[in-house]
Amino acid sequence: TQPDPSRGAAVKATDRAHVFHSWSAQALIDPLAVAGAEGSYFWDHDGNRYLDFSSQLVNTNIGHQHPKVVAAVREQAARLCTIAPGFAVDVRGEAARLIAERTPGDLDKVFFTNGGAEAVENAVRMARLHTGRTKVFSAYRSYHGATAAAINLTGDPRRWPSDTASAGVVHFWAPFLYRSPFHAETEEQECERALRHLEDVLVFEGPQTVAAIVLETVPGTAGIMVPPPGYLPGVRKLCDKYGVVLILDEVMAGFGRTGRWFAADHWDVVPDLLTFAKGVNSGYVPLGGVAISAEIAATFDRRPYPGGLTYSGHPLACAAAVATIGAMAEEGIVENAARIGEEVLGPGLRELAERHPSVGEVRGTGVFWALELVRDRATREPLVPYNASGEDNAPMAAFTAACRAAGLWPFVNMNRTHAVPPCTVTETEAKDGLALLDEALTVADAYTG
Ligand code: PLP
Repeated sequence: TQPDPSRGAAVKATDRAHVFHSWSAQALIDPLAVAGAEGSYFWDHDGNRYLDFSSQLVNTNIGHQHPKVVAAVREQAARLCTIAPGFAVDVRGEAARLIAERTPGDLDKVFFTNGGAEAVENAVRMARLHTGRTKVFSAYRSYHGATAAAINLTGDPRRWPSDTASAGVVHFWAPFLYRSPFHAETEEQECERALRHLEDVLVFEGPQTVAAIVLETVPGTAGIMVPPPGYLPGVRKLCDKYGVVLILDEVMAGFGRTGRWFAADHWDVVPDLLTFAKGVNSGYVPLGGVAISAEIAATFDRRPYPGGLTYSGHPLACAAAVATIGAMAEEGIVENAARIGEEVLGPGLRELAERHPSVGEVRGTGVFWALELVRDRATREPLVPYNASGEDNAPMAAFTAACRAAGLWPFVNMNRTHAVPPCTVTETEAKDGLALLDEALTVADAYTG
């Protein structure tokens, strides 16, 4: 497509007149008018092209406009656009089968939703009905979605304006050695203390009142803290000991992001419920869901499951999932994510950290990396205060603007930038992204010392 600035201006004017944007002060935003996208890139109407190191909201795992997925949606649209969830249809069954084939252990039944938050809502409902208990545990430094139960479970400041004290949620600290809540100095200490803390909170809350522990297998937006090796197996053991349902939220970490189909595969942990969305079909058509263990599914064999959605298992979304999972398997896309992480992004980001005083820590796996930006490496003071806005956030705003000016679209949250390109990213693209980050980090460096 040829650049057309006047078209861009018209698109933006209509947007500003009528679109009410998420998470934003409406008068203070200036959304980029996008003209198109392909693979790891998208572009605006002025002819600016951006290397997408955000995968949008960390969902386009297969890249933009993958031809097999576009064709599948087109073919399904011609065949059957919509049908109520109560009917059996080929693409819905096939999507569920392909998902169940890949989810860990005996998670062989799938309840479909339209996105991640609804998946979390339904997983919590299933856990409460299955156990007859109400409380749900979740971690600080987490994000689980913006609907009622999901936002209450969320352990970041997005919860604060929507918090309802009656939600029955109890927050605890999960391991994060760089900013250890337990004053630990080694991963082993962090892991052991985090598990002891979780058990203490469980015991003091009364385990017989706790339905579920909800955890992001690898917390995403909150900072990509890959847990120490013993942590998730330890949480699994606590859940078994106290009869608590383990819900792993893989909305962001699932479908290749960490270099495995599911992040739980890194530690061979089998949850009772697993929530997914985003990468299941890269968001070409909205889709999410809950993968359910045999035991929890059996709870609803003779007792109706009291939940549903008009668009549960929407044929267009399921057709996109079938094509996405097929293409990911045929083209070795999960393996590509693992290789790019090990050979290009991991070493490249660590090399940037050596040269840039603003980088306090690099952590991640696959195409799921965070750079923790700091004012001072010794004190680990974040480049901007927790939940900063306005002037306080100026250093991160300047860093973000420098990335965009260089042609890199970063994923920025608080004092962190995440390198989260599509799982299809090529070695050359990943290296280009590192070079652009290198340039932009000099802007962050200016705020250190
Ligand atoms: N859970 C996790 C781990 C997420 O990262 C997100 C979204 O970023 C959600 C749940 C909510 O998903 P959705 O925005 O599709 O409702």
